[in-house]
Amino acid sequence: MTVPTIKLNDGREIPQLGFGVFQIEPGDTAEKVRAALDVGYRHIDTAQMYGNEEGVGKAIADSGIPRDELWITTKLNNDGHGRESAVSKLDESLTKLGLDHVDLYLIHWPRPKENRYVETWQGLEDAQKAGKALSIGVSNFQPGHLDRLAAETPTVPAINQIEFHPHLVQRELREYLQQHDIALEAWSPIGQGKGLLDAPELKEIAERVGKSAAQVVLRWHIQLGNIVFPKSNNPERIKENSEIFDFALSEDDIAAVEKLHTGERIGPDPDDFG
Ligand code: NAD
Repeated sequence: MTVPTIKLNDGREIPQLGFGVFQIEPGDTAEKVRAALDVGYRHIDTAQMYGNEEGVGKAIADSGIPRDELWITTKLNNDGHGRESAVSKLDESLTKLGLDHVDLYLIHWPRPKENRYVETWQGLEDAQKAGKALSIGVSNFQPGHLDRLAAETPTVPAINQIEFHPHLVQRELREYLQQHDIALEAWSPIGQGKGLLDAPELKEIAERVGKSAAQVVLRWHIQLGNIVFPKSNNPERIKENSEIFDFALSEDDIAAVEKLHTGERIGPDPDDFG
């Protein structure tokens, strides 16, 4: 499987498709990640909050895949905001993952009411300088949060990982990220499956192009330039979700998927959460 890469503002290249492990049981994680690695995924998205970094580490170690062929992302837990804590929490993650660096370290949520995300970001800058995280970024940041980082710190995040799927096409935020050369990672890219994938508009395109509704939605993200890491516990779906590089959607199809926007979130509003 050849997966396209996206060039980040720090010069590094990230595979546009990965495997997400949110809500995969810690005891099952090694097996599921191994299934993904076996069909060619080379990018894994985990987080301290998911409690399954050890399983990701075990799958990496057992696979024998050279470290420099893998892209591993983890995220700082909400209870770890603060400059020093951001680094020490990454040290804990590295121990669990059995790695000496991650490819990407993200602040999971901005927690604006706690208002420590600027100093936390400085901790991520420290981790990057120490070689513990090769790229650094944020998740669930709104333009106002990114404006503060730009005003108060020297490093622009390489990535913002945000909720983004056909029901939540974040036009303004997407434009902001494009203008500031911040890559967009789309979480819950297929809207967690339920509901969204039954849309007749998706079924019609899927039948016409000979793919599943999930593949159509993932392909839509790829053509928008988003980075995606769909999650599944099912080996057949894990494989299915990776088979999205042998067809293309027309501009009309892309527009039709975008029309499914309802503005409904699956997750919390980042301004209120944490
Ligand atoms: P997702 O959109 O990837 O959907 C996963 C669900 O969709 C599965 O549990 C399954 O029920 C269904 N599914 C998967 N493949 C399918 C297929 N081919 N056909 C039909 N149904 C299918 O949702 P997600 O897991 O919430 O998001 C993906 C990843 O994004 C996570 O694993 C995690 O890594 C990341 N994430 C990040 C945040 C954040 O705050 N940064 C929040 C949520 C998720």
